[in-house]
Amino acid sequence: MDNFKKKKQYGQNFLTNSAIPKRIASESGITSEDGVIEIGPGFGILTRELSAIADKVVAIEIDTELMDILPEKLKDCDNVKVINADILKTDVKKLIDEEFPNKSICVCANLPYYITTDIVMSLLEGEYGFRTITVMVQKEVAERFCAKEGSDGYGAITASISYYASVKRLFTVKAGSFDPKPKVDSAVIRFDLFDTPPVTPIDKKTLFDVIKAAFSQRRKTLANSLNSYFGSIISKPQISEIISNAGFTENVRGEELDIYGFSKIADLIYTTKIHL
Ligand code: SAM
Repeated sequence: MDNFKKKKQYGQNFLTNSAIPKRIASESGITSEDGVIEIGPGFGILTRELSAIADKVVAIEIDTELMDILPEKLKDCDNVKVINADILKTDVKKLIDEEFPNKSICVCANLPYYITTDIVMSLLEGEYGFRTITVMVQKEVAERFCAKEGSDGYGAITASISYYASVKRLFTVKAGSFDPKPKVDSAVIRFDLFDTPPVTPIDKKTLFDVIKAAFSQRRKTLANSLNSYFGSIISKPQISEIISNAGFTENVRGEELDIYGFSKIADLIYTTKIHL
């Protein structure tokens, strides 16, 4: 371990203060009934805490060099299985079926910064039935994930997340708690996934297309943004009518809408499209 050189390309900023993984585990909502998927165990500092509170932990680590270190580090944690794999190339559904049949499952991780958004979105969009996802991410990313409509950080990602889960910021972690020390502070956030989404759009793809379109040109009105995206199939007057029928003023901007507003617009766009 003394010879281990942390790899920047894998986002290896390891926690050095054991109070933090303890707090992450205790605020994750994970219980002794839960199976846990951990992404990037590193030296196993968080894995150990998860092992103490969960029924079983499966930790996915990309770095082959850590496969020699982790078994020694976790030798007294008999409910932990470490898999040497890239989470982005892992068949999560298959992993769940094989490792956690009929179990309630949570995800917990100090995420590698270079793939934070990709991982979080794929875990939510996969609709794998996770109960909670608790992750440490860069502070700015946490602010974006937790942003309320109308605020600066609110964007397509925040709006999309609100279809899948409620998000709560748990606490901040100073850059000095990691080795090597990153340039910015971090924050731990928790997603509590909905059993049933807050809206039931006629067509889910149209809902996410509308969200994407609404934020594609931030300074434009919603009408102009939707026109740039759907203009080839729906006329500008029809788009204005849809916005008005959904209960919004003609100058409303995408960042003012929550998931309910986006869903109303998406349904009206969908029904207009199919009646063309
Ligand atoms: N959990 C440890 C801790 O808190 O000290 C390490 C966290 S470190 C920020 C991120 C970890 O994710 C590293 O161990 C890194 O090798 C691993 N990692 C990076 N990319 C990965 C990927 N695509 N799939 C699985 N693990 C990955």
